[in-house]
Amino acid sequence: MSRYRGPVCRICRREGRKLFLKGQRCYGPKCGMEKKAYPPGQFGDSGRRRRRPSDYCMQLREKQRLRAIYGVFEKPFRKYVRDAERMEGVAGENLLKLLECRLDNVLMRASLAASRPEARQLVTHGHIAVNGNKVTVGSFRLRPGDVVGVREKSRDITPVAAAVSAAGGQAQLSWLQADPENRTATVLSLPERTDIDIDIDEQTIIEFYSR
Ligand code: SF4
Repeated sequence: MSRYRGPVCRICRREGRKLFLKGQRCYGPKCGMEKKAYPPGQFGDSGRRRRRPSDYCMQLREKQRLRAIYGVFEKPFRKYVRDAERMEGVAGENLLKLLECRLDNVLMRASLAASRPEARQLVTHGHIAVNGNKVTVGSFRLRPGDVVGVREKSRDITPVAAAVSAAGGQAQLSWLQADPENRTATVLSLPERTDIDIDIDEQTIIEFYSR
């Protein structure tokens, strides 16, 4: 399975906002956006005024931002969009719901991992089970009723223990029943748009692919 291996903070700087891709580091002074709050590249901090972006450019940036947040490459992302359009309801919201139901995202939401990339690594290294069966694919799509858990031999490994203690008593989500102390989480239902705290205009992404 391939993944982006370049400098992660560069993605936030390109998008001009924090995308929270590095767990706890994103909340401290070492955050790349705190140190260099301008676009990457030779002329990033030149102060040159940029032209007003076109509609196409804004749709493209919104799409790239959402891909970066969930760590999804173009081809699988396109498939998510197709699946979202086939589902009942608003396609943009469906897209977010499908992305939220990825196994790596659910682990992060349940405070069993500090970030989505870290959650994906836990999965690929064989530390995670779904309904008692080992799963090694971070994009595994969870459905209501599925129970996610850290496998017995891995329940106290450092990344999991650190994520649980850093989260403290975080608020529960209405669609996900998390039990970090027992290293488990149960998907109760598909999330609603109001449950997803991501500032993105998802409908423009659907429009981008309808061009
Ligand atoms: Fe983005 Fe986190 Fe890097 Fe800050 S530390 S620039 S939020 S990935």
